[in-house]
This record gives sequence, C-alpha cells and structure tokens, in this order.
Amino acid sequence: MKVLVLGSGQLAQMMYLAAAPLGVEVKAVDVTDNSIVNPIDKQLYDHDLAIAIDDADAITVEFEHIPEPLLDLVHQSGKLYPNIQAILTGADRVREKQLLDAKGVANCQHIVIREHAQIAEVIPTLGERVIFKSSRDGYDGYGQWRMSSASDLEELEVIFAGLDLAKLPLIAEKMVAFDREISVIGARDKNGHVRLFDIAENLHYQGQLHVSIAPATDVSELIKQKAEDIFTSIAEGLEYVGVLAVELFQTGEELLVNEIAPRVHNSGHWTQDGAETCQFEQHIRAVLDFPLGSTTTYSVTAMVNIIGCTSFSRDLIAIEGCNLHWYGKTLRDKRKMGHINVVADSYQALASKLDTLMACLPSEYFPMLPGEIKRLKAIV
Ligand code: AMP
Repeated sequence: MKVLVLGSGQLAQMMYLAAAPLGVEVKAVDVTDNSIVNPIDKQLYDHDLAIAIDDADAITVEFEHIPEPLLDLVHQSGKLYPNIQAILTGADRVREKQLLDAKGVANCQHIVIREHAQIAEVIPTLGERVIFKSSRDGYDGYGQWRMSSASDLEELEVIFAGLDLAKLPLIAEKMVAFDREISVIGARDKNGHVRLFDIAENLHYQGQLHVSIAPATDVSELIKQKAEDIFTSIAEGLEYVGVLAVELFQTGEELLVNEIAPRVHNSGHWTQDGAETCQFEQHIRAVLDFPLGSTTTYSVTAMVNIIGCTSFSRDLIAIEGCNLHWYGKTLRDKRKMGHINVVADSYQALASKLDTLMACLPSEYFPMLPGEIKRLKAIV
C-alpha cells in the first residue's frame, strides 16, 4: 500500500522508515514546488502530483502549514487523513482556541486581536505578563512576542503597527506560571478507537523543545485522566484520524492546553525506542485503517534534540541504549538536525547514561541537559 505525505522533512522521513516493515511505501510532496520525492534521499520520482494522489491509498501531512490550494486539491481526493478541518484548526491559533472553548477544554486566557485598537484591552484584561502569538505560521517560538511589563508595550506596538491584523490576527495570551510542560500523544482510528502513549515531560529553551522525558515523572491518576479526557474531546471534536499531539501546561493538578498539532510530534519521538509501536508507525496504521498497535512503554526514555549543531562525537552510539536519529539536513542556526533517544530501566540509570552522553556533546547546544540529569538523579 502507499501513503503520500505532504511535506518532505524529517517527519516524512521517519514515517517512511516506520512504514517499510509493514510493506507500506511512503512518498513525499515537496510543498515548495509540488514535486514528488523519496523522503530519505529526496530523489525526484518521475511522476507528478496528480499521479501520486491517484496512486496513494491514503494522504497525510507532516506539518500543518500546507499551502491551501494543495490542501484543497488533496482534500478533494477523499484520501486525506486527518481531515482538512483538523489540519486547518492546527494551523490557526484562532480556530484552535474556538475549538477548545466550544468543547469546554481549559486553555490559556486570551484575547483575539483583529484590530490595533484592541491592544489597549490587553493589560486591563490579561495583566502585564502576556505572550502575543501570530495566529498562523508560528512555530518553535517564531511569530511570538513577550511582554514582561507594561513598559514593553510601546516597543511591541511599533512591531504590531506593521501587521495586517484583519488578515492575520494576533492572540494575546496571559503568561502562565506553570510547573511544567507535558504532552499527550495518541492516535484515533476510523472507528473512533483511541490509543494514547504515556505522557511526556517537555523541556523548552527559547521556545524550542530540547528534551522530552517519557513517561513523565510523578503523573497522578487525576492528571492522566484529565489528559485523556482532553485528548478525546479534541480528537472526537475534530473527527480525527491519525496521530494527534496535545501540548499542555501543568500547574498542580490543573491542565491547560497550550497547543494542538495535527500530526506526529517532536515530543513523541521517544516512542521510536521506548514504546512498542512508535508514533510514526501508529500514524501510518491509523490513516490506512490498519489495527492500531500497542502503546505500552518499554523503557524510561529521554529524547534529546540536536539543534543547530553537527559537531558531536559519533561515539555516542557506543553508549548502551543510546540511539541516534539523523535527519540529513543542511546545518542552519537553531535547525533541528537530529535527535538522540536514550533508553534505560529507571530514571537513575537514565541520568547516568545522559551523563555519559553529555561528554560526547558540545554543552553550549544542550543547555537543558545538566539540570535535567541532576533532577533525574534525585528521583527516589
Ligand atoms: P508555543 O509555540 O505556543 O508552543 O510556545 C512555545 C513555548 O513558549 C511553550 O512551549 C512555552 O514554553 C512558552 N509559552 C507559550 N505560551 C505560553 C503562556 N501562555 N505562558 C507561559 N509560557 C508560554
């Protein structure tokens, strides 16, 4: 069987690798020119988009910001999973907030700013600590502006003066003093069955995910239940098919949804080495209407992103339980180049493997690791 992925980056590459053992071929669409490429070596196939659509059993996406003409075309084929509404919701923070509010799912207090005059409402409504987020095309902290006190607003207003807010609204969101960031990732199949992976705990630096630990430490039954309820409300609300990621802020026993991603997600990469079925295979299974796989966790896992860096010791793969996943991309500042999954029998064993790993890595590119190793060592 064949799956066509819109987008030809590392997520399409990892879908290809996970699908091959099932006898499923994955091809990718380079959305910059609609050419059809092999997701691993990016070699061009000699057929065009129309033939690839015709040839595919299912079509999916590796990111939500797909040019609308392409998305519409693929939608008309009747083979697109998740559906177009789900993808458009994940691509637009205004739609996303509307869905969450309609489903009664707790999210950060916010205002949708569609005209400049509304900026005056921000401080009276949300206070002085606010994040402004572009409603579309933002990712990894791009398209975001932080206000820490009222005195920042003047400078921000100069930036916002250049934006067409009627066309591209801003979301002003109250800054949340959360305890930690977690994500719940799972799949929903065409019959509405849902299977969730264990919750991952996510460490960000300058708006980018650097490290995930799964299963997250200290997850109460209540939090597990709340995360599952949130996931199910969103997935059912969108009539979702495929893998869906929900990023959450946890404060005590409360959860607020930060963001939803209608696709496989960086904080789910740990499943490649730590879970019985990885998120990429699970997604392929869901979109092709195969039975979903077991999501049981094999091992405590750390996923460490390699960001903007190629200069590390390849000897790291000699560390037991340490697996390198390299994307083969050209180096750019802050670009995700690959990730390392480290599996262990306990959090303490994981901490000591991460210690050994640290010796193979240039520390300036891995600012979150030392603190995390210390935290994991202290877990009894
Ligand atoms: P996002 O692109 O919305 O996921 O934001 C990137 C990162 O910025 C998140 O992972 C958080 O670390 C931080 N962030 C986003 N929104 C908020 C908020 N309302 N309060 C505090 N931190 C936030």
